[in-house]
Amino acid sequence: MFLTLLRADQLFLRSMNAKHTKEFARQLDEEDQLGSYRSEFHIPRDENGRALIYLCGNSLGLQPKKTKTYLEQELLDWAQLGVEGHVKAKNPWMPYHEFLSEGYAKIVGAKPSEVIAMNSLTVNLHLMMVSFYRPTAKKHKIIIEADAFPSDIYALSSQITHHGYAPEESLIKMSPRQGEHALRTEDIAKLVTDQGDEIALLMLGGVNYYTGQVFDMKTLTELAHKKDICVGFDLAHAAGNVNLELHDWNVDFAVWCSYKYLNSGPGSVAGAFIHEKYHKSKLPKFAGWWGHNKDNRFKMPDDFEAIESAEGWQLSNPPILSLAAIRASLSIFDRVGMNSLLQKSNKLTNYLIELLETLDSDTINIITPNQRGCQVSIQVKNGNKTLFDSITKKGVVADWREPDVIRVAPVPLYNSFSDVYQFYQILRSSL
Ligand SMILES: *Cc1c(COP(=O)(O)O)cnc(C)c1O
Repeated sequence: MFLTLLRADQLFLRSMNAKHTKEFARQLDEEDQLGSYRSEFHIPRDENGRALIYLCGNSLGLQPKKTKTYLEQELLDWAQLGVEGHVKAKNPWMPYHEFLSEGYAKIVGAKPSEVIAMNSLTVNLHLMMVSFYRPTAKKHKIIIEADAFPSDIYALSSQITHHGYAPEESLIKMSPRQGEHALRTEDIAKLVTDQGDEIALLMLGGVNYYTGQVFDMKTLTELAHKKDICVGFDLAHAAGNVNLELHDWNVDFAVWCSYKYLNSGPGSVAGAFIHEKYHKSKLPKFAGWWGHNKDNRFKMPDDFEAIESAEGWQLSNPPILSLAAIRASLSIFDRVGMNSLLQKSNKLTNYLIELLETLDSDTINIITPNQRGCQVSIQVKNGNKTLFDSITKKGVVADWREPDVIRVAPVPLYNSFSDVYQFYQILRSSL
């Protein structure tokens, strides 16, 4: 593999501009060991049947072709077996969520017993706060990024209010320094040190949805724990996109959705991580029958007895059709492996950034820091949305985030170096 990589780089050395050609991008695609995975996905097309340049996997991941087969299996078993499918289906529905644990665990760096597929992301965030946000008059504050995804701010604020405190006082929204776009670890550290006695929870996006910044989750967790602060991460933009080692980093809890980088379909079931050190604890949690001890769940006892793993946080029996879509997707991640995926991701996004850096810096500006996954956020000077409209007309699927950012995410599973090159060409011609 290294030999083939070298060939492309040598070509580059011969002429600095060789990298800025269609041929170079095509050569990178030929050398790409993961290139064949693109054909396992449905790529959206325009009305003339031409593949769109889909750079929006950070918002909704594409459909694996095999998802249909996985769903059809469950529809067939439901048709033929009815209620018996709970135990007699090819993949019995009763333990179906367990089939996902291994795959989810590999993606977030956890033990299978620490992860669970359930609910949706914001619901999981609330459920985690029930256990991990236990404010007292002295220690009630929560730290979050000022530009966090609004749903997270709503969830945290409503939890604060629910406990009888005021978001204006208890929710610390951290902004980057003047003139900067990313938060500095040292600044979060200072806040934790200075106000730590009043802070109950540090709750950040593993990857900020707006800037694409990846936080140093390991360091921040260590720092916060020294001040007896619980640490949770919203991994909506991190799961399947960046390296995660939740167990080893000693993160307390995390939540993520499965429809972005995890390609499991719109609104598909989300995930949660609860560190194993809490599995046998008496942390308060909201309870439902699916979290009850599996040995006597169907004896329908009145007293709740939580399963001593992340499964103990489940409320309801899960939507099998959605879990089937997640299973289809996880089987692809399993074959690729996070390491090779991240290697390609790095190469693909580095290529994008190199190309973007040749463009007019008076018009556009990359606000994504070096600590990033595949997403790149391009700030457009003067918030001129016509640039975004123009690239959209020319076949690019990206997204616009008010007030002035175009987000693009070349996803290593199905985007090619040629996609990146074409995007660059279209952007350049639209400036
Ligand atoms: C996508 C996203 C959500 C979406 O929440 P749902 O509950 O799945 O609708 C929440 N938070 C962040 C950070 C996101 O990126």
